[in-house]
Amino acid sequence: MSGADPAAEAAALRAELERANRAYYELDAPEISDAEYDRLFRALQALEAAHPALATADSPTRRVGGAPAEYLPKARHAVPMLSLDNAFTTEELRDWHQKLVRLDGRVAEAALALEVKIDGAALSLTYEDGILVRGVTRGNGTEGEEITANVRSIGDIPLRLDGSDWPARLEIRGEVYIGRAAFARVNRDREARGLEPLQNPRNAAAGALRALDPAEARRRRLAFFGYQVVVLDGTAPADTHDGMLAALARWGVPVEPHHVVVDGIDDAVAACDGWATRIRDLAFDADGLVIKINDLAVQVELGVVGNRVPRWAIARKFPAESAFTRLLDIEVNIGRTGALAPTAILEPVRIGGVTVTRATLHNEDVIASRDVRIGDVVEVIRSGDVIPKVLGPDRSRRTGAEVPWQPPTHCPFSGTLLVRPEGEAARYCPDPRCPGRAYEQLVHFVSRAGLDIEGLGPERVRQLLDAHLVRDAADFFTLTADTLRELEGFADQSAAALVQAIAAARERPLHALLAALGIRHVGATAAKLLARRFGTLDAIREATAQDLEALDGIGPAISGSLREFCEDPGTAALLDRLRALGVAQEEAGVQADGPRPLDGQILVLTGTLPTLSRAEATQRIEAAGGVVKSAVSRKTTAVVAGSEAGDKLAKAEALGIEVIDEAELLRRLDRAE
Ligand SMILES: [Zn+2]
Repeated sequence: MSGADPAAEAAALRAELERANRAYYELDAPEISDAEYDRLFRALQALEAAHPALATADSPTRRVGGAPAEYLPKARHAVPMLSLDNAFTTEELRDWHQKLVRLDGRVAEAALALEVKIDGAALSLTYEDGILVRGVTRGNGTEGEEITANVRSIGDIPLRLDGSDWPARLEIRGEVYIGRAAFARVNRDREARGLEPLQNPRNAAAGALRALDPAEARRRRLAFFGYQVVVLDGTAPADTHDGMLAALARWGVPVEPHHVVVDGIDDAVAACDGWATRIRDLAFDADGLVIKINDLAVQVELGVVGNRVPRWAIARKFPAESAFTRLLDIEVNIGRTGALAPTAILEPVRIGGVTVTRATLHNEDVIASRDVRIGDVVEVIRSGDVIPKVLGPDRSRRTGAEVPWQPPTHCPFSGTLLVRPEGEAARYCPDPRCPGRAYEQLVHFVSRAGLDIEGLGPERVRQLLDAHLVRDAADFFTLTADTLRELEGFADQSAAALVQAIAAARERPLHALLAALGIRHVGATAAKLLARRFGTLDAIREATAQDLEALDGIGPAISGSLREFCEDPGTAALLDRLRALGVAQEEAGVQADGPRPLDGQILVLTGTLPTLSRAEATQRIEAAGGVVKSAVSRKTTAVVAGSEAGDKLAKAEALGIEVIDEAELLRRLDRAE
């Protein structure tokens, strides 16, 4: 590069520096040495100094251009940065939803957006005409500190937004964090420089954001996930929260990838339960999920409580406490779906006020990848009511006497040869009547994810099993107050209450029964789809794999395990017994043999319909065999548009998908009635 064309030279240097930046931050794998980076950087700086017209706002020199500041100026937020209310239990989450439903009936059926709650420092970024102009910390929510120079040093925050559909002025809000691997590197670097290691990634991120020297901010390898768009001037790119996240991704802003939209509170609770044990397995610190009403118009109507917390969002937190103790042994249990569940037997340790003696080790891959050995000192965490789990060993405390664990080849309960399906992390006992599965299956059957029988927790199930009063799920419906009274801990009143709760569970809808049966791959969502489509358990039992897979959302894995379940003589007998004992096997409002004019069709609703509420429209479409989705895709059959339809209408038109009005929807619904 001899400098024949300064503009071309500057462009080449910028491209190379940006690529190096990305490798450094996002991939955590520097492509070029620090010395080489500095050389390119100084070359670009010199070029820009000699030709000021070349110094663009998005030049990488701006990323570390700031000299150390003497103080951080205060900056007011155009729109306050709110904090979120927390739900520490499922009950609190349901209470939040109940309150919203009382405020606005539409919430009952409203889609909910779920995303991982990143444990970092909140940040507001202002873009004008697509160029980053300001970065401000959250501060007290009304006023933060301006840290634009530090923000520019964060390699994965775009200095210029991609695309062109961004509003002229907007704020992007999100969380600055340091990933686990990057944090370990930062501390190794600090130790090499003779500095104290940093305590935890969150404090390190918050401290770096407010560092007076942008070079220190760069050294800490900060990263960013965006989660909100505030339009200051211009047109919103979407009318739903997930639409906004999609817009952020289009503009080159990193978005945490695990966000989903679910149909209602039951699915949200199920998703939270699933995350409670997995949240610490992410590559960065996270302590819960944020649940939001997906529809932005409904959000606005629900509003804010006291200018402080929005009603339309809540953080479901899984606070964790951890302790170190010795792993004495690994016991093998069988989960309700037959998966091998290795359980850690621990030297008793107090965690969060509870003595812990057992913890989950997930599966054999986790044990192998974390190199957990019997005899290790391991870190155990516990959050809420969730089963404690082993995070990993403290290798520095090994004596050499630790023994790696070998998974068994045969089921310790039934002696069956274990199988490991391709691509799965666990071995399974393929015997559906394996006694090892019974306890977990029964606990699941009566839990909230199943028939939701009040007063029947894991301890009670254990007690009933040990007393030989219950061997399979049907046996619950044979219990009488007289037999229960014989058991320890039961009085007249509690025995009668439990019998009553069991009787009430006979009337649960088919989708609850299906989910309760614990058929592999058939969770709450699949159970609902199946119940709404087939209406009765008999219809499902008679359905062929082809019938099942005709349903959007049912693939070969679900249909395969469902067919297997229905064809097994043992489970078939169980289903017959449940019916004989008066357990309903039907979904209300679905006529299996009735006319289903919208069979297999996928509809998306947008805007306000003239006569039908969104809940009514959804209910009628589903009763007619259709499926209502919140987002438009190529699979969408038609979009039903009312007044003030938003970006879904535009997307439908862009994809060439049919758009119909309410009158046409009603005509199609009535076609076969
Ligand atoms: Zn077995």
